[in-house]
Amino acid sequence: MNTEDTQIEATAELIAAARNVLVFTGAGVSTESGIPDFRGTDGIWSRYDPEDFTIQKFLTDKRARKMQWKLLSGGAFSMINVKPNSAHFAIAELEKLGKLHGVVTQNVDGLHQKAGVSDNRVFQLHGDLSHAICLSCKKRYPMEEISGWLKSGLDEPVCLSCQGMLKPDAVLFGEQLPVEALMESEKRSRSCEVCIVMGSTLTVYPAALIPQYAVQSGAKLVIINVGPTELDRLAHIRIEGKAGVIAPQIIHRVKSILKERQP
Ligand code: NAD
Repeated sequence: MNTEDTQIEATAELIAAARNVLVFTGAGVSTESGIPDFRGTDGIWSRYDPEDFTIQKFLTDKRARKMQWKLLSGGAFSMINVKPNSAHFAIAELEKLGKLHGVVTQNVDGLHQKAGVSDNRVFQLHGDLSHAICLSCKKRYPMEEISGWLKSGLDEPVCLSCQGMLKPDAVLFGEQLPVEALMESEKRSRSCEVCIVMGSTLTVYPAALIPQYAVQSGAKLVIINVGPTELDRLAHIRIEGKAGVIAPQIIHRVKSILKERQP
């Protein structure tokens, strides 16, 4: 076996022996679905100014708000037509095997749910760009619906129920992270046996605390990433490679191991 095969085998053994596996994902898990990450050469912020995406600008500056809607609902940031890739499907398999303690994600693309992971097991630390939310009554709308309104000439979408201001449901710069998702992520990271990080540089806080809580609580940390991460030194197993290539191989081996060990 080469080194990569040995690491895949060791990860599969950890998962097969565990009951609670927590998966932590970043932008890298979705690059194979065609969504660029932040820090790559084709990263989003090489083309747009993050200053235009603050909550303050959204609430107070009509020009910035219109520009945000245009980009977030149908333009460069649109998550409407994106599809899950083999990494998302491999993670969903963990739930079918009864192993998934949760998916904590920094992504706003909604692809874990589209791949079949139950809504109540996905904790979206930075919100969800596949939906919009009413700032008054909290009613949620699929971004596809909003995109249709904007295409048919509407300037700024408002809530159909209460006429309140709608906002993309992703966390904008300067906005608080969703408290419930954050608390539940910490709880699950402190009670998992294995934590698998996929596609994140682990540089964005507080999100990057989640795998650290898992290690502090005695879990084994596995990192699958293209390029180094800030927490490589804490990893029990570190696999260099694409999540969409590595994750399905791990799941394939987990299934074989579980079958071999069936009484
Ligand atoms: P990041 O851009 O800092 O890091 C992504 C990492 O994934 C990089 O190390 C990159 O080399 C690696 N990578 C790229 N393709 C990969 C692949 N196929 N398999 C494995 N690794 C791969 O992203 P981050 O750590 O998530 O943090 C930045 C912020 O990006 C987060 O706040 C997140 O909200 C936001 N973001 C989300 C999306 C999305 O929802 N899809 C897209 C862009 C940015």
